[in-house]
Amino acid sequence: MPVTVMCPNLRCRATLSVPDKVRGKRVRCPQCSITFQVPASANTPPPRLPQKTAPQPEEQ
Ligand SMILES: [Zn+2]
Repeated sequence: MPVTVMCPNLRCRATLSVPDKVRGKRVRCPQCSITFQVPASANTPPPRLPQKTAPQPEEQ
């Protein structure tokens, strides 16, 4: 399953879809040609817990 990572280059910020197997390895951005390391746990969606009526925090 591909992993979507964002290029860390602030002037690029390209969104790359890389294979899952490159986690923890270095990839090269095809847009700005820098190499960066793909986080080992990139884009792991947090488990969605069913929240019905969450209590509203008091914001003051
Ligand atoms: Zn880039």
